Amino acid sequence: MDADDTRMTIDGRQVAAEHTFDVRNPATGEVFARAPDCSREQLDEAMAAAERAQRDWRTDEDTRRKALAACADTLFAHAEEIAPLLTAEQGKPLQAATEELLGTGVWFKYYANLELEPEVIQDDDKAYAEVVRRPMGVVAAITPWNFPVILGSWKVAPALRAGNTVVLKPSPYTPLSTLRVAQLLSEVLPPGVLNVVSGGDDLGRWMTAHPTPRKISFTGSVATGKHVAAAAAPDLKRVTLELGGNDPAIVLDGTDVEQVAAKLFWGAFANSGQVCSAIKRVYAPRGAHDDLVEALAEQARTVRVGDGMDPESKLGPVNNRMQFDKVRELVDDAVASGGSVAAGGGPVDGPGYFFSPTIIAGLSDGARLVDEEQFGPALPVIAYDDVEDAVARANGTHFGLSGSVWANDPEQARAIADRLECGTVWINSHLALAPHQPFGGFKWSGVGVENGPWGLAGFTETQVQYQAR
Ligand code: NAD
Repeated sequence: MDADDTRMTIDGRQVAAEHTFDVRNPATGEVFARAPDCSREQLDEAMAAAERAQRDWRTDEDTRRKALAACADTLFAHAEEIAPLLTAEQGKPLQAATEELLGTGVWFKYYANLELEPEVIQDDDKAYAEVVRRPMGVVAAITPWNFPVILGSWKVAPALRAGNTVVLKPSPYTPLSTLRVAQLLSEVLPPGVLNVVSGGDDLGRWMTAHPTPRKISFTGSVATGKHVAAAAAPDLKRVTLELGGNDPAIVLDGTDVEQVAAKLFWGAFANSGQVCSAIKRVYAPRGAHDDLVEALAEQARTVRVGDGMDPESKLGPVNNRMQFDKVRELVDDAVASGGSVAAGGGPVDGPGYFFSPTIIAGLSDGARLVDEEQFGPALPVIAYDDVEDAVARANGTHFGLSGSVWANDPEQARAIADRLECGTVWINSHLALAPHQPFGGFKWSGVGVENGPWGLAGFTETQVQYQAR
C-alpha cells in the first residue's frame, strides 16, 4: 500500500492530502506505507461536515440503530481482509488482529441495540418530569496505537448511537486500519457522520482546540491526557480520558502457582504488554515468590515471538522505536537497581522492534520498572511479607486503571478486591473486558468511563423535561 490508496474520509468522500507521513512495520522497522497528513483546512472541512450532518442524524433514532447494525455487519464481513493491514502497522499476530476487527463489530452491534430510556422522576398532581438524554454535537475522538480499531469503536459507536457525529484521529503509528474501516463504513453511514483524519500530534492539538467539538473522547498516555484536559478547559468541552495504568496483580498466600501462572502471564503479555490494563507488576507472597517467578519465566522462555504474519507467532514486536527504547531503558534500570533477570532481559537479535519476554525478580517499589508504566513485554515480580503492605503498594501510585487478586479462596480474594483503588478489579482473571462493562480509571488513569449504558451516557447531556399540571 502507498499514499495513492490511503485516503481520509471527510464528508463521505475519500480524500488525499498534500503531504503524507511514513508508516513503519514494527516487525521489520521499515516504512511500508504513507498516510495522508491532514491540513488545518481539511480538519475544518471535517468539523464543518460533522456539524452539518448532525442536524439530521440527531433526529431519528431508528436510522441510527439500523446504521450501527450495518456498520457491525460490514466489520464482520471485512475483518479478515483488514487484519493484515492492522498486523503490518501494529505488529500483533494476525489472529489477534482479526479478533480485534471482529470485536469492533461486536461493539457496534452492542450499541445498535442499547437503549437509554427516559427516567420519570416526578409524576404527581404538581408535575410530570422526565430525565432525557440529548446528544452533544460533534465529538472529537483521538486514539492510541495499541488497539487502534477497537478503541476507536468504544468512542464512535456510542457517540453515533447517542446522536452525535464524529471526527476521529488515529495514532500516527497506526493510521491505516482505521482509515480503511472508515472507508468501508462510509458506504453505510450518511456523509459527514463519521470523518476520519490522519496526522501527527499537532493534528490532535488542533482538534482539541477547535471551536466545533463539544466533547473530546481521548485514549492515550497520562501526559497527553493532561494536555487534552487543559486544551478542553477554555471553552468547557466535555472530556472522557482513558489513560495509562500500572495494574497490580496480588497473589494471595496459598494460591496454586502452577495453576495461575499461564493466566498471569497472558494478563501481562497479551499484545506484547501493550495494553493499558495489562498486569504491570505482580505482588507475590514471599513463600511462593520463587516458584511463581520460575513458572512465569518458563512461560516467557517458551512463548513464540515473531512477525505477526507468521501463524506460529504468539507475540509480536513492540509497536515503535520510542516504546522499544523505553522498555529497554526500564529493564536496564531494573538490572542496575538489583533486579535479577529470570527470563529475557533485552532485545531479540535481528530487524524490527522485538523484545524478549522478560521476567524480573528481586525488585521493590522505587525501581522504575515497578513505579512507571512499562507498556511492553517486561514484568516485575515483587515479594511481600504482609498482604496489608501489598495492598498499600498496589494503591500507592497515581494510577488506578485496574487490578487483580489471585487466590484459592474467593471470599479472601473479595476482601482484598474491595480495597483496591481502581476502575476494574478482577479475581483470578485479568483483562476480561466486554461492551456491557464500564471501563475507566481512578486517579490519573482517567476521567469518565467507556462502555455499557454509562459509556453511552457519556456522549449525552442530561436534560430535565418538566411539565406543570
Ligand atoms: P499518546 O498519548 O502518545 O498518543 C495518543 C494519541 O494522542 C495519538 O493519536 C497522538 O497523536 C495524540 N496526541 C499526542 N499529543 C497530543 C496533544 N497534545 N493533543 C491531542 N492529541 C495528542 O499515547 P500512545 O503512546 O499512542 O498510547 C499509549 C498510552 O495509551 C499508554 O499510556 C496506555 O496505557 C494508554 N492507553 C489507555 C487506554 C485506556 O483505555 N485507559 C487504552 C489504550 C492505551
